[in-house]
Amino acid sequence: MSTALVRLRSLHSELESCRLCPNMRGPVVHGPPVLSKVMLVGQAPGPREGSFGRPFAWTAGRTLFRWFEEAMGLSEETFRARIYMAAVARCFPGKALGGGDRKPDAKEIARCRTFLEAEVAILKPALVLAVGTVAIVEILGPLAVGKKLDTLVGRTVSTRWFGQSVDVVPLPHPSGASPWHKMEPGKTLLGKALTIVKEHPAMREIQ
Ligand code: SF4
Repeated sequence: MSTALVRLRSLHSELESCRLCPNMRGPVVHGPPVLSKVMLVGQAPGPREGSFGRPFAWTAGRTLFRWFEEAMGLSEETFRARIYMAAVARCFPGKALGGGDRKPDAKEIARCRTFLEAEVAILKPALVLAVGTVAIVEILGPLAVGKKLDTLVGRTVSTRWFGQSVDVVPLPHPSGASPWHKMEPGKTLLGKALTIVKEHPAMREIQ
């Protein structure tokens, strides 16, 4: 077993026993230990992911995997086997007062960041798929704060993330909560973003 795989498995064990956030609901959800140069970063698991034991296991996942299937013929099974799936927070934050899932707060994001940082150190990703505003802002910081999805989706942002040079492709969140990706200009910009992903050298390599 490679050293990177040993480190990743050990990190997953650490994650599984994490109970640092009092307002988060377990269990911790993470994907398999895939040694990939392509990393997906979502927001946080929803209410169903914990029982399935994998990220994007419910309706948002169905939409997300359909995007990739239609744009580049990548099935859900292949996606999960070849792309490392991470998130800004690894536990379900509960429901928001106004409906929908609560967004992880700044303290929760800061606590869970240590896991993201460790994953980047182990995997050294070349391409990062940032899914939804929370993930986009987490990765791009000031480059994304206060910006609308219209100006972020449909392009690549080459930056450094935890000291690693990465190409970040922002994507909208596939949950039913926002219709952005179903209406213009979202539909066109999402198509553009998926073409960028399809043609990225790191993506070509895993396909
Ligand atoms: S959200 Fe992250 S830091 Fe907080 S309890 Fe879950 S795994 Fe730990």
